[in-house]
This record gives sequence, C-alpha cells and structure tokens, in this order.
Amino acid sequence: MTGEPGYDASAEYVADQFARMGLLPGGTDGWYQQVPLRTYKTIAESAEFTMHRDGDDVGFAYRDDFAVFADPIEASTRVRGEVVYVGYGIHAPELGYSDYEGIDVRGKIVAGFSGAPEHFEGVRRAYYSSSTNKREEAVARGAVGTISLRSRKAEKRSPWDEGKERIGTRASMTWVNGDGDAARHFPALQGSVSLSPKTAAALLADAPLSYEDALNAMEAGEVRSAPLGIEVTIARESEHGELTSPNVVGLVRGTDPELADEYVVYTAHLDHIGTREVDGKTKIFNGAYDNAMGIALMLETARAFAALPPRRSVLFVAVTAEERGLLGSDYFVNNPVVPVESIVANINLDMPLFLYPLADLVAFGSENSSLQPIANAAAAAEDFVFSPDPMPEEVLFVRSDQYSFVRAGIPAIFLVPGFKSLDEDIDGESLYREHLKEHYHKASDDLTRPVHWESAVRFARAHTRIGYVVASQDGRPAWNEGSFLGERFAAP
Ligand SMILES: [Zn+2]
Repeated sequence: MTGEPGYDASAEYVADQFARMGLLPGGTDGWYQQVPLRTYKTIAESAEFTMHRDGDDVGFAYRDDFAVFADPIEASTRVRGEVVYVGYGIHAPELGYSDYEGIDVRGKIVAGFSGAPEHFEGVRRAYYSSSTNKREEAVARGAVGTISLRSRKAEKRSPWDEGKERIGTRASMTWVNGDGDAARHFPALQGSVSLSPKTAAALLADAPLSYEDALNAMEAGEVRSAPLGIEVTIARESEHGELTSPNVVGLVRGTDPELADEYVVYTAHLDHIGTREVDGKTKIFNGAYDNAMGIALMLETARAFAALPPRRSVLFVAVTAEERGLLGSDYFVNNPVVPVESIVANINLDMPLFLYPLADLVAFGSENSSLQPIANAAAAAEDFVFSPDPMPEEVLFVRSDQYSFVRAGIPAIFLVPGFKSLDEDIDGESLYREHLKEHYHKASDDLTRPVHWESAVRFARAHTRIGYVVASQDGRPAWNEGSFLGERFAAP
C-alpha cells in the first residue's frame, strides 16, 4: 500500500533493478520522484444529510442511510440546495445525448447514477462514465453538490447493508501541489453523498419520477432529468494527513541527437492495497497479478531497451498510488521530470493475466491514434490477433494510469490479454472472469495463481516491440483525425 514500508521496499527493489540494467536515474531525487500525498477522511459524527420538504426536516443516519465523501482541502463544509435529478449526468452532444438539456443546475445539487448508457461505445463510454468528467460537467454548469444514486446492478453486486459498516473507515488520498490544491479537486462542490436505495426512494418520494422510474429510465438510457422539488443539506468535517510516496523513474537515453530529447514513457503501478482483515485475520494482499506482473514485464522491457537503446529516449516509471485514484501517474504528468510536450507516447501495463495459452490481445485507446498500426504489427509478430474490448461495461480505459497521460493530450495504449485461448479445450473467458470474481483485489492474488509463462514471454515481446517502434520511427505518434480522445484532450 502506498505510504507503507512494503511499498518503499518495492520501490527500492525497482530502483536497484534499474541500476543493475544500466538505466540512468530519471527522477528528481535520484531514482525517485517523491509524490506529496494527502489523506482525507470524514469524521463520522459530523456527517449530516437532511431532507427539507414542506417545512419538515428529516435527518438520516451516516452509514445506515448514506455515505458522505470527505473534502481533501476544507476542514468543514455545509451546503443546502435544491436537488435536480440528472440521470447519468452526461452531456454528449455528438451522440445526441444530454442529461442537461433544458435543465438549470446553478446553485443546485445534482443527483444521478454512475456509468453511461449502454449504447455508448468503446472509449466514449469510458470517458463519459468517469466521475471526474461528470464532476467537471456539473461544476461547469454551476452545481454546488452531488448525490450518487445506486443502480440495481451495483446493489446486487454489493448490497448497501453488507458494506455499510466499512463506509468511511479508510481514508481517501490525493496529491497536493505547492499551492495546497489537490488533484481533481472541485472546490465548487461543497458536499457529495451516496445514498442507500431506501434513502434514494425517500428523496424521490414526492418527485416527478420515483426511484423505480429513475432506475428504469437509467437502464433504458432514457433522459428523464427533472428538478425534484426538494432541498437537502449535506455537511461534513474532514480530517487530513500528509505523506509522501515515490514514483521510481529509470531512463534509457536515446541515440539520435535530434530525437533524444523526446520520450516514450512506459508505466506500471507499483502499489497495491496493503493488508486487510479477512475472517478476523490480517492478510497481506500481495497483488501478484495486480500489478507485480505488470512491474515484472516493465522491468524486462527496460532490460531490452537498455541493451539496445533506440533513437528516442525512454522513461520507465513505476508509479505509486494507482489504487488510490491514479495519483502517481497524475502527479507525474502534472509535474513531469521532462517537458510534458516532449513525451510522445505512454504505454501502460496493469494486471496482465496469463491464465491460458493466449491467442489475442486488446489494446485500449489505440484506435484513437497512430499507435494502432504499430500495435497491430507488434502483435502479429508474436502471433497474436487483436480483439475489441470484451468488457466495455468495466470501462477499463479510464481505470488505469494511461488515462492520466491521455488527459494531458499524450497518445497512449494499454495492452491486456484477450479472452481467446489457443487451446480449444480451455475456456479463456471463464478463467479470466473467474480471476476477476475470485482473486482480483483479494488476498488470493498471490504466487499460487497459475501463469502461462510462454504467453507472458510473447506478450512481453509484443509490448517491447510497440515502444521500440515508437522510439525509433521518424515521426512521433499523432491522434487520428477526428478521433474522440484527440479532440477532447490534444493540445490546440
Ligand atoms: Zn492494477
């Protein structure tokens, strides 16, 4: 876990491996770039959620009825406002979809669901599902608070009543810069709560649509935004703590004097989730696949590059605090060790699973840039085929570190194994899904998990080839004309 001795030992190990391979220290402090982090946690007794209806004030109980998110900067906040239901809280005019059409949320609190309509495809779905983007949209429209409603799916997967005792027991984390501002912090939002299904039903009790209506409309992708005719108060006090945790940065200097000041950046997160109680015992969550496997592959990639440096320079960055919200990579991009415009591409690894003889790969984000033909060729050279994202509902593209680079306008690719097995008698998809269900973020993600090593080698080689071509070719990668990510994030 970020900030714990186990993480620091892992960081030392990676720095030592970089040194043995002949990489150069690429951090601000030798191999390290220290990331200033802040923890923030709601003080349970201070949490308040009150509904004001027709002169009546109805209070609700923290954990039983609602969760309130702590504030990374303010010690204490209180906000009262009218509530407007905004569905998914998405404005996507190019898809003919807007939850904000004809809706005014200035000075109001917006209530809605996570995710995006099912007909949103690929990277658009990932982008519009991201809570950061939803907050940006709400803030741009003048909202002062947010209320998250729970979908039937989310409630089925992890019922509120089973998880409520854990609400607010673990501090959230963000990075802070020299001005005391925090990553992805929206000071305009003075309160954010998540409601149990029962509380959500109470919120919508006298509204133009009931909670059931809202659930049905959301599942059907229908826009039903409306003011709910009720005011609420959200208040909370937050306690803060400070720590630092390093990104580990190794450099392979490019050989071409004209191109050596441009950088390909490989990333993999070095943190996992620490220790937790399981059945009354403290267990170490080792994260063998998530993401020791990604780090191991990145180290082997670094070894190959160090032995035969390409024309451009290459940075290998083991980032911290991914599990706490992509913080190490976000800090790296916002406080880069080289000028951010000199970073030509990011290639990220997170939890590559080698559970069966791999036949295919998925390259998240590649269709938006000239990285796609490079990835195709690299995959073909190792006898892989490419498959489309087999789990669009998981919006994996915005859930790992490449997204920090994309947000900074840098073309990025996130390579993962697909579901197809070379062995007809092995069902790759069921093994993959079984891992997600039984081992992902569980203590059992350790070295007892099977590894199909031949597949790992082919994958590592394909992963190395992509960066090698990018670091060797004349031109730097570019966003495709009219690509969604390029239009959203590329520098003007
Ligand atoms: Zn991970």
